Amino acid sequence: MRSLNYESNRPLLYLVATPIGNLQEVSPRTIEVLSSVDLIACEDTRVTGKLLSLLGIKKDLISLREHNEVSVSQELVGKILTGKKVAYMSDAGYPCISDPGSKLVRICLENEINVAPISGPNAALNALVASGLCEDHFYFHGFLNAKESIRLEELRTLAQRKETLIFYESPHRIQKTLEDLFEIFGNRKACLARELTKKHEEFIRCGLEEMSKIDPETLKGEMVIVVEGSSGEEKPIISDAELLKMVNSMVESGMSTKDAIKKVSEITKINKNAIYKIVHLN
Ligand code: SAM
Repeated sequence: MRSLNYESNRPLLYLVATPIGNLQEVSPRTIEVLSSVDLIACEDTRVTGKLLSLLGIKKDLISLREHNEVSVSQELVGKILTGKKVAYMSDAGYPCISDPGSKLVRICLENEINVAPISGPNAALNALVASGLCEDHFYFHGFLNAKESIRLEELRTLAQRKETLIFYESPHRIQKTLEDLFEIFGNRKACLARELTKKHEEFIRCGLEEMSKIDPETLKGEMVIVVEGSSGEEKPIISDAELLKMVNSMVESGMSTKDAIKKVSEITKINKNAIYKIVHLN
């Protein structure tokens, strides 16, 4: 279906990107749109309220988060269809990018409400363009799973991708994630971009081996990890289930678990510790 956002009389939802640190990155257009709407839906009314008060904008706010996204989206659709002008913004960066908003967009489109993006900052793209690893193609993964066995499996499925890879991570999981990245991807080039657009913005560009050994106490704040894509020379992927099956069948034929892990590591050229984790986490 074709529809002109600004040249039709269909109702419109504005999806507004917000600063990821530096408040000067609010554009005149963002201010114009936020000033023009009747209602702003946002992730956290306190965070958005603070930004709006710095911009001198006073609006009714309604909270739309992951747990209430469907019900609040339906409520917003009702308001938009009766003529209210509504914008949605998450706490930082673009809505929908590792943030709520996607369900709202789908529900609006199903109800013949157009959706207009209002451009602004995004952590992944900022990190990518300055990383030194930006190629023609990239793959954005966002957050890896918090559960180690699932995270390792996720990384294994990404190991053959040739595109530059982008991950979001929080400071309390960064060390584990960097170790896992090194374990699965080997010593590829990487860039950790920290505190983007803020006073303490930092880029750490090195191999994953060196990165995985950085003192996590020095990796505070918000961060993005950019990793170079596969050169195509990596080992073929073997799933966790297949590795587990190999170990179990050796154990069943009388080998100790330790020897079986060592043997499977020799055969597959997969790091012994990685196989150990799969065996003990499953
Ligand atoms: N919607 C946001 C966007 O468009 O970038 C992402 C929101 S997600 C919940 C938050 C994650 O984005 C953080 O854990 C971090 O990985 C990354 N991030 C956000 N702001 C950042 C910043 N100033 N510097 C580095 N990473 C940032």
